[in-house]
Amino acid sequence: MPVRPFDIDPSHCLIGGRWAACDSGETLPLLDPSDGNTLCDIARGGASDIDRAVAAARAAFDGEWGRATAVERGRVLYRLGEMILEHTDHLAGLEAQDVGKPLTQARADVIALARYMEFYAGAVDKLHGTTIPYLDGYTVYTLREPHGVTGHIVPWNYPMQIIGRSVGAALATGNACVLKPAEEACLTALAFGELATRAGLPAGALNIVPGLGAEAGAALAGHGGVNHISFTGSVGTGRKIQQAAAQHVVPVTLELGGKSPQIVFDDADIASALPFLVNAGIQNAGQTCSASSRILVQRGVYAQVAALMADRYSALRAGPAMHDLEVGPLVSARQKEIVEGFIAKGSDLTLLAQGTVVSDAPAGGAYVAPTLFDGVRPGHTLAQDEIFGPVQVIIPFEDEEEALAIANGTDYGLVAAVWSRDGARQMRLARKLRSGQVFLNNYGAGGGVELPFGGTGLSGHGREKGFEALYGFTTLKTVAARHG
Ligand code: NAD
Repeated sequence: MPVRPFDIDPSHCLIGGRWAACDSGETLPLLDPSDGNTLCDIARGGASDIDRAVAAARAAFDGEWGRATAVERGRVLYRLGEMILEHTDHLAGLEAQDVGKPLTQARADVIALARYMEFYAGAVDKLHGTTIPYLDGYTVYTLREPHGVTGHIVPWNYPMQIIGRSVGAALATGNACVLKPAEEACLTALAFGELATRAGLPAGALNIVPGLGAEAGAALAGHGGVNHISFTGSVGTGRKIQQAAAQHVVPVTLELGGKSPQIVFDDADIASALPFLVNAGIQNAGQTCSASSRILVQRGVYAQVAALMADRYSALRAGPAMHDLEVGPLVSARQKEIVEGFIAKGSDLTLLAQGTVVSDAPAGGAYVAPTLFDGVRPGHTLAQDEIFGPVQVIIPFEDEEEALAIANGTDYGLVAAVWSRDGARQMRLARKLRSGQVFLNNYGAGGGVELPFGGTGLSGHGREKGFEALYGFTTLKTVAARHG
């Protein structure tokens, strides 16, 4: 399999339209999660590379890209979306190798990346201000303007999807971007940069500096030349980024994961719920910010749901990304250690079912068998903390009131689902659940790019995806003219 994103050197950064080594010339090894071997070396970008990238973005914003109309920006993104689709196999192969994602899931992420380009390209020339009735003799209106230079710090779990939703919206609205991909997985970020250049994005409108979080990431978050930061990742790093951005009073969008519940009532259509209950926990090996790691089940159907989920779990297989099984490896040995630590903390619980790691999975791969716990107390660590691995807990409840208290009883609030045939109950819970998204008789609604996404509490703040993202990546100016 190729490990080069097109014909570019994966150890290079993209700054001001040029691919070159970072200033120090240092590199980091990029590991294949399926076998632990080195795929290639990537740049170890640092503060001086970030300085140059921010300067190049500013020049693009003050120049050709900043002057482009919404229609012109949309055309570049349309072309980019088409080119992404034309290279689906290459991009899916890179993402599968780099993240350890089963190939089918990686292909879905390519389609999503292209959809983000199409959606924002088509939306941005419909983004407009308003006129405001005011005093006699005045005309007042608002303008939506780009922030300027936007910083994007992206994790390793869904590089293409997260780049699509944040960089895509930022470019569509006329910002110039500096992207810091994760050190664990950055090949599709580099490929995206190359395709954007080929699609006609002017030099400097998108700059990419791979490197370590504490080096390139921290330099970008605290840079005085950046006007907005978008971050997806852990709560701890999110806090650091918000603090760094506060030095320059720069707005941040934080998407920090969750502990998302699905609530199954006695009157639910269990057969249609079942695939969602399990898939939402094991997709991308559970390394999904919107993973549903808590399944709340009412007493009347508890035994039935637990037995059906256990059957599914027993059939799950974890193996190399290219084997395209239900579950791939975790992204790294470190992530495997974190997840195994959580499983060990469940030693006081009932382990209801476990999948298998296939016998020909390479010993150096970061495999964890999908694991399902039963009868879990809502206050247990496994029911409170984000695990970020293929682990789910089932929690029993008596009635709607208790279900709501358990569902809202963590520090997170990203996604929640209700499975019930009772329409009034659906409406009540949709309002009362403390969550950025609520799904009624489904989970995730296919992950559509059209659906605004983001959290409350420790899940973060700000919204990406959908039309809402275009508001997030712009700032509003009010113009009041007194003309008599
Ligand atoms: P992380 O938050 O540390 O890393 C995410 C991104 O932030 C990477 O690009 C990283 O280089 C960068 N970064 C790290 N430290 C930084 C700093 N000081 N300043 C600026 N940027 C910095 O996440 P991780 O260590 O890779 O994973 C640890 C845990 O985080 C996981 O187990 C999971 O619980 C959570 N996580 C959540 C998401 C999500 O989608 N919400 C994604 C990845 C990880």
